[in-house]
Parts: sequence; structure tokens; C-alpha cells
Amino acid sequence: MPQLTLRWVHSHDNNVCPICRELGDSNYTWVFNNEPMPNELFHPKHGIVWNVATGSAAHEHGIKGACRCHLDIQFDLADLLEEAKKLRDSLKAGASAGGFTMGQRELGESEE
Ligand SMILES: [Zn+2]
Ligand SMILES: [Zn+2]
Repeated sequence: MPQLTLRWVHSHDNNVCPICRELGDSNYTWVFNNEPMPNELFHPKHGIVWNVATGSAAHEHGIKGACRCHLDIQFDLADLLEEAKKLRDSLKAGASAGGFTMGQRELGESEE
């Protein structure tokens, strides 16, 4: 199933605002299952800390505003694995048709 994971990463310098620092240091993570990338990110303590229009400036960075944080965006690999299986199956089909055997064992059912 598609799964999207967003994690706050701050720049570890003196310009990082307290909110960014807290989000980054606590490894705060947003997880979205079967949902598109959201337009804003909500933190239970700090409210909306990011939105698609202004990025992390959505929380105004307290008094200091010079930090450059980013979101670490990770997609679950399940989709990719599914594609790999399709490719494997097509290779298997080609192998039985054309006598191609190299790598067939490695591409077999052992990945679970
Ligand atoms: Zn900040
Ligand atoms: Zn920041």
C-alpha cells in the first residue's frame, strides 16, 4: 500500500528556531496511508508548522527566521516491489519461452 512518511530535518546550526529544533530533534514524523502529499502539516503542540505555499515559514520560526529546514520525504517501497515482481514474472515468461535461465533463481520466491 502506498505510504508516505515525512520527517522534519533541521540544519543543526544556531539559526534553527526552537520549533524546528524540537521537531527535528524529536524525530517527529507524519505518516499518510493512501493519501496524497498534504497541503499542510499539523503538530499537536505547535499547530500548523508547514504548508505548501510558505513551507516551514508557516510557523514563522519564532523570532529568528533564518533557519533552513527541510522535510525528509520517504515513500514506502511496496509499490516498487510490486513493479519488480511484474518485471520478474515477465522475465520468467521470457525465460521459459527462450531458454533464458541465468538469474532466475535469484529472482524467485525467496524475498519474503
Ligand atoms: Zn522554525
Ligand atoms: Zn526551520
